[in-house]
Amino acid sequence: MSVPCVAVARERGEEVREQLAAVGVLDSDHEIAVEDGTIYVPVTDPDAVPPELRESVVERPAERREQPTMPADVLGYEPSLERLGDIVILDEDDPERAREIADAVMDSDIPCETVVNRASPIEGELRVRQWDVLAGDGTETVHREYGHEFLLDIAEVYFSPRLATERHRVVQQVEAGEQAFDMFAGVGPYAIPMASAGAEVVACDLNETAIDYLRENAERNDVADQVTAVAGDVREVAADWTGWADRVVMNLPHSADEFLDTAVALAGEECVLHYYDIQHEDDPFGPGEDAIREAAAAADEPYEVTVETEHVVRSYAPHEHNVCLDVRLRKQ
Ligand code: SAM
Repeated sequence: MSVPCVAVARERGEEVREQLAAVGVLDSDHEIAVEDGTIYVPVTDPDAVPPELRESVVERPAERREQPTMPADVLGYEPSLERLGDIVILDEDDPERAREIADAVMDSDIPCETVVNRASPIEGELRVRQWDVLAGDGTETVHREYGHEFLLDIAEVYFSPRLATERHRVVQQVEAGEQAFDMFAGVGPYAIPMASAGAEVVACDLNETAIDYLRENAERNDVADQVTAVAGDVREVAADWTGWADRVVMNLPHSADEFLDTAVALAGEECVLHYYDIQHEDDPFGPGEDAIREAAAAADEPYEVTVETEHVVRSYAPHEHNVCLDVRLRKQ
């Protein structure tokens, strides 16, 4: 089939393709072709081609472009799904619909080894969810985030790819040479990028499997020398690091307030706390700030408290926000 194409010297191909895309006239249903040093870029409307390229428009046969098959093409509706590495995650109450979507995902061109459906809320101290495995058999995968890779098993550890932007926001504040303590480290999505940014990091988690993955991930990302990973209850582990930290990450939003005395004990002369909380939208930051001020005042040597950032991370439930307070503590 003949379609209008802009024909230019091959060396100008990328520049012209970008120019045509920018004015919305690039025809992505047909393949670009190259012949005898000339590149032929299909366009949807010859009259909408920028004037300086209009004389280069020719009619020419072009192959139809193969579009990848997506689950919606198989199902006839757009399913809601989330991807973590090569695992596709569903949140379907109806098991039959979940099965239908899983089959469509496996029949589609999405690169995927396993499809799982949420089988429980995130629960327990270790904050792990149960899953129904609908296709494939492994729940271990490699997730990539801002240039780092994390091996993890979603059936054994907590992990949310939705927090990637938030983690990056925190990591960008890290300066080379500082000492950072991650109290609830999971498989290391804060600890490892903080180490890459030049920090010396101590990462603690109650979940031994998460700490095993964290050590493996430190190796994978070439920061094992800068990361000390400790399995255990941070209230006990912290005793070995009293007064050590320039930065403390507290990513246990439902109960971080119960660990503020530990965070303050970890703090050095001056320390930034990243305190995660879940609160009602009417006063998302007030309860956290009050709890931090109370803990800082109760220290043997009290701290002056400055709230540097109040940040809404995401909506958690109707009228409830997941928030982060970045707070600087300075010994008075
Ligand atoms: N920061 C990680 C991330 O972004 O993926 C994990 C966050 S997850 C919400 C909270 C983590 O805190 C879980 O891995 C859980 O095992 C750990 N945890 C819960 N209670 C703890 C405690 N008392 N001491 C150390 N870690 C704890």
